[in-house]
Amino acid sequence: NLSGRLQGVIKNLRGQARLTEDNIADALREVRMALLEADVALPVVKDFIAQVKERAQGREVLQSLTPGQAVIQVVHEELTKLMGTDNAALNLAAVPPAIILMAGLQGSGKTTTSAKLARLLKAQKKKVLLTSADIYRPAAIEQLRTLAKSLDVDFFESDISQKPETIATNVLDHAKRHFYDVVIFDTAGRLGIDEAMMAEIKALHTLLNPIETLFVVDAMQGQDAINTARAFGETLPLTGVVLTKLDGDARGGAALSVRHITGKPIKFIGVSEKVDGLEPFHPERMASRILGMGDVLSLIEHAQKNVDLDEAKKLADKVKSGKNFDLEDYKSQIQQMRNMGGMGALMDKLPAQMAGMAGQMSGEAGDKAVRRMEGIINSMTPLERRKPELIKATRKRRIALGAGVQVQEVNRLLNQFEDVQKMMKMFAKGGMTKMMRAMQG
Ligand code: GDP
Ligand code: MG
Repeated sequence: NLSGRLQGVIKNLRGQARLTEDNIADALREVRMALLEADVALPVVKDFIAQVKERAQGREVLQSLTPGQAVIQVVHEELTKLMGTDNAALNLAAVPPAIILMAGLQGSGKTTTSAKLARLLKAQKKKVLLTSADIYRPAAIEQLRTLAKSLDVDFFESDISQKPETIATNVLDHAKRHFYDVVIFDTAGRLGIDEAMMAEIKALHTLLNPIETLFVVDAMQGQDAINTARAFGETLPLTGVVLTKLDGDARGGAALSVRHITGKPIKFIGVSEKVDGLEPFHPERMASRILGMGDVLSLIEHAQKNVDLDEAKKLADKVKSGKNFDLEDYKSQIQQMRNMGGMGALMDKLPAQMAGMAGQMSGEAGDKAVRRMEGIINSMTPLERRKPELIKATRKRRIALGAGVQVQEVNRLLNQFEDVQKMMKMFAKGGMTKMMRAMQG
């Protein structure tokens, strides 16, 4: 289960101060598995992971909410970016007729998609002509004729004793004389890539000079999509991709592979056999589908909501300005970390020791520990909270009694506070680098 896998990534990184090369590697190993399970081709996965790695080690991770979530977010963002930032629309900006040439293997869905596009364009009040040069399979021409009739779209009857090139010339001539806005030109496909087919479609392309050359590819092809995409991409100047049969159990990995290989936008997806089963392609949705991370994304949103960003910022400002960090601040910091389930927005600014403490605060035991710490601080006077150095033996006894804990626990809290305070001071003075050096030395 993919989202389970990714949730595992988040859990594993929980409580760690920052991303190291090692823990990114762990997370990316899981992401790599998720992509392969989604049928993304291996070379594509490799390139992608390398790209994410580069970005995850950079600035964005340090500024983000938590390390584990940051990795997932980078993955999701990169995936979306790779698949095109926006939905790419059909381009019909040509002197009419605008020609759409359909290319792809046999069974990929060219004929079905031709009809779907005709339906779409008809609804946009275009005068559409459907035609097929699939002279090898009379049944394929019959299939398109029937679809055209059911849509009430004109169909150009080609003479199948002629060569596809001759057919193309005749179609163009007919379309010009009858003022069609758009001609959708369906072609023959083979079961596999062969040179005769490629030569034929290349010749057709030269003759027709289409504004759109759409590569139609079956999403169920998964890993194999990469070879087909490469062959067609090298033969024809493709302008876009239609990914069909996404209504099946295809996991969408082909989208990433095909996009990566051709570099062309996916313009539509096929989601049913019926003529209305065509949808615009949404990169972001496909990224979520590939990662199977609907759950994970909502988890991230949830975590973001739980963070009181104002509080966190106030604290960070205070640290930066070098003001005294007192027990009142300590308390609000503890509460912050608790709210975030042990993962702090401040983590990238705070020492590892504190991050580790935040880790201890997750779960039920953490809940209890935090409440006790809060109880102890609540039992102090405001003056004691501001000047913890005042808290000597008698005051300690009074506080312990008030909070219902042993004096040792008050001592432990004060010691922890002192450690944190020391680091805060160091941070305020010398920044992160100096503090890290001090902690390592
Ligand atoms: P062509 O050989 O490339 O022209 O492919 P066809 O258009 O004849 O489609 C091959 C098969 O796939 C047919 O049975 C279609 O009904 C089916 N098909 C095409 N697109 C889709 C789709 O998006 N979803 C589903 N479920 N079936 C599709
Ligand atoms: Mg066909």
